[in-house]
Amino acid sequence: MTDSAQDGEIDGAVYKTLLESTKAIPWRIDWQTMRFTYIGPQIESLLGWSPSSWESAQDWAERIHPEDRERVVNFCVAQSKAGTDHEADYRALTRDGGQVWIRDVVHVVRNDDGEVDSLVGFMFDISERKKTEEQLIVLQKELETLSFKDGLTGVANRRMFDSILEMEWTHARRNNQPLSIIMLDIDYFKQYNDHYGHLQGDACLKRVAQVLSSAATRARDFVARFGGEEFVLVLPETDEKSAAKIAERCRNLIFKEQIPHASSPVSQILTVSLGVGTMTPTHQDEALGFVEAVDKRLYQAKQRGRNCIVKES
Ligand code: GH3
Ligand code: MG
Ligand code: MG
Repeated sequence: MTDSAQDGEIDGAVYKTLLESTKAIPWRIDWQTMRFTYIGPQIESLLGWSPSSWESAQDWAERIHPEDRERVVNFCVAQSKAGTDHEADYRALTRDGGQVWIRDVVHVVRNDDGEVDSLVGFMFDISERKKTEEQLIVLQKELETLSFKDGLTGVANRRMFDSILEMEWTHARRNNQPLSIIMLDIDYFKQYNDHYGHLQGDACLKRVAQVLSSAATRARDFVARFGGEEFVLVLPETDEKSAAKIAERCRNLIFKEQIPHASSPVSQILTVSLGVGTMTPTHQDEALGFVEAVDKRLYQAKQRGRNCIVKES
C-alpha cells in the first residue's frame, strides 16, 4: 500500500476520474462571484449544454423550467445564505427544448471564519422515478373514477348511488326538505338484445344514460345506473309535483330519441317504465325502505302495461 492510501488521501486526478465516471453530475459554485468553478462533463450528455456554457448561477436558474424556477431559486438561495445543506427537485431544460427531472443535492462549504465559501453539489437524473410517480397518480385517479363510474355508460354506478343517497337522505332529514327519486327501467330490453344484438344493446344503454343526464339539470341532481337496464335519479329539494314533471320529461326525451325497437310489444320505439317517490325523511325512516317503495311502483308500471309512470302506491 502507498503512503497516500494509508493516509486516506487520493490525488486530484483520481478524484476527477471518480467524479466524472458517476451518473450523478458534480458541480461547484464560488459564493463570492456566484460563478461555476467546476461542472462534470456528463452534464452535456444529459442536458445538451456544454460544461463551458455553465458560467454563473444565472445560467443554472435560466435552465430551470419556468414553473419551477422561482420556487427552487428562492429556496436554494435562502438555504445557502443560512449555510444549510439542502436538496431540490426541479425540471431542468435541455438544449433541444426538452426537460429532465433533476434532484440537486447541495452542500454548503464554509471557510475557516465560518463564512460561506462555496456550494458543491450533485445533480441526479430522477426522470425515471418521476415518470413512475406520475403514472401512479394517473392510475390512482383512474381507479377512483372507475370505482364510482359505470364502465359502459359513464354515469355513476350503484356504489356511488348508495353513497349519494345516504348523503342526500341525511341532508334532507336535517333540513326538513323533500327528497325525490325516480327509478326507470327499459321496456322489453331482453327482446331488444335478441333482435339487435348485445353490442347495439350496449349502445342503446349509453344513449339512455346520456338522455337521463340531460333530463335532470339542477346542480345536485344525480343519475346512476342502478344495474342492467335500470337507472335511478336522485333529486334533492324536489317535491312530488316537480319529481313527476322530471319523470315525464325523462319518458318524453327517451321517446323523442326514436330508438327503434321492432320487437317491442308496446311500441315500435324504445320505451321506459318509471316509478317515482318523494319523502321528507324523519328519524323513523330508512333510505333503503324508500328505494324499495319506489322500486315497487316501477314494478306496478310494468304491470300496468309499461311505457308509463307510477307516482303513488
Ligand atoms: P321488462 O319490460 O319487464 O323490463 O323486460 P326486460 O326484457 O327489459 O327485462 P329483463 O329483466 O327480462 O331483461 C333485462 C335485459 O337487460 C336482459 C339483459 O341481458 C339485458 N342487459 C342487462 N345489462 C346489459 C348490458 O350491459 N348490455 C346489454 N346489451 N344488455 C344488458
Ligand atoms: Mg326492462
Ligand atoms: Mg330490469
